[in-house]
Amino acid sequence: MKALVKTSAGPGFTLQDVPVPVIRDDEVLIRVHRAGVCGTDVHIHEWDAWAAGRCRPPFTVGHEFAGEVSQVGSLVADVSVGDRVTAEGHIVCGRCHLCRTGNSHICPNTKIIGVDRDGCFAEYIAMPATNVWHLDDDISFEVGGIHDPMGNAFHTALHGTSIPGATVLITGCGPIGIFAVGICRAAGASRIIASDVNPRRLELAKTMGAHDAVRPTEVESAVRAATEGLGVDVVLEMSGIPAAVHQAFALVRSGGRVQLLGIPAKSMDIELATEIIFKGITVYGVVGRRMYDTWIQMTQFLRSGQFDPRPVITHRLPLEKHAEAIAAIKSGEAGKVVFEIG
Ligand code: NAD
Ligand code: ZN
Repeated sequence: MKALVKTSAGPGFTLQDVPVPVIRDDEVLIRVHRAGVCGTDVHIHEWDAWAAGRCRPPFTVGHEFAGEVSQVGSLVADVSVGDRVTAEGHIVCGRCHLCRTGNSHICPNTKIIGVDRDGCFAEYIAMPATNVWHLDDDISFEVGGIHDPMGNAFHTALHGTSIPGATVLITGCGPIGIFAVGICRAAGASRIIASDVNPRRLELAKTMGAHDAVRPTEVESAVRAATEGLGVDVVLEMSGIPAAVHQAFALVRSGGRVQLLGIPAKSMDIELATEIIFKGITVYGVVGRRMYDTWIQMTQFLRSGQFDPRPVITHRLPLEKHAEAIAAIKSGEAGKVVFEIG
């Protein structure tokens, strides 16, 4: 089969012929139809310090996908050939303290497809049946293929927050931030202020329902105006840029909540006393998607029709155009980039 492979330690991807994966008894084989491209794939492509420290080539890249089940292992009971599915790409142990207390999204034994084992930028992928998520008949493979980053946005926006009626600041309008705008809108936020340095992405945030889509220099006055100087109830930090993290702490109201999704490239200073403690705020670190409450919530929002992620998809490309896909993401001009595989 055709697969996009990280062949060796160093920059680049190679499209090559590899054997179709052989499944274990508890796994299923999925024919991949659509696959989302993510910032993580760019890190692996560029072979930055994180990728060099974590990944062990050769392996097939990609972790966001949807497709059709083509084979099931002998121990698999609730997935059948022909099922339309996506999957949670974090494969957890199911046995550790965290897995056994409903926190498998932070299982220390997590293996990620396309990072720690073969991924989905290929015609077929093997997945443990426990990770498979069925798609409703009216959800396209394209939308199925972006459930992973949408799930990040659902997790960040809705876990431990109270969005109905809330004022929300979303710093960073990458694909996940833009999804979050639509989710907060569907969940009944009274005011959504979204910030980014990139005008194209601010436009997408507007399309998804942001009341204000502003540059970082305009955020403070937008928040003051919308909240009579109080600060917002909730901040979703989705950029990983230190200046935006400080803005999150500065502009959340006392007693409010800051959800941190964005990952800073290196360590940064935070003035704990003034930025967090004396404001009495709650800070939540987001990792992936909660298994499987985030997935249930996401499916129900999609079913309701109140949240439609499709405007976020800006690029659709065949695997052969992988260089174009990576370039589109690096340019900062793209929303979500999707490979059309089979
Ligand atoms: P992204 O990294 O492209 O989005 C970041 C956006 O922030 C960009 O549009 C950029 O222009 C914008 N930005 C830059 N400076 C800013 C500033 N000062 N104020 C506001 N915005 C600014 O794309 P993404 O895929 O949406 O990822 C968002 C973040 O989430 C990244 O840091 C990524 O590494 C992280 N991430 C975390 C998890 C997790 O599980 N915690 C999962 C996926 C991604
Ligand atoms: Zn575990």
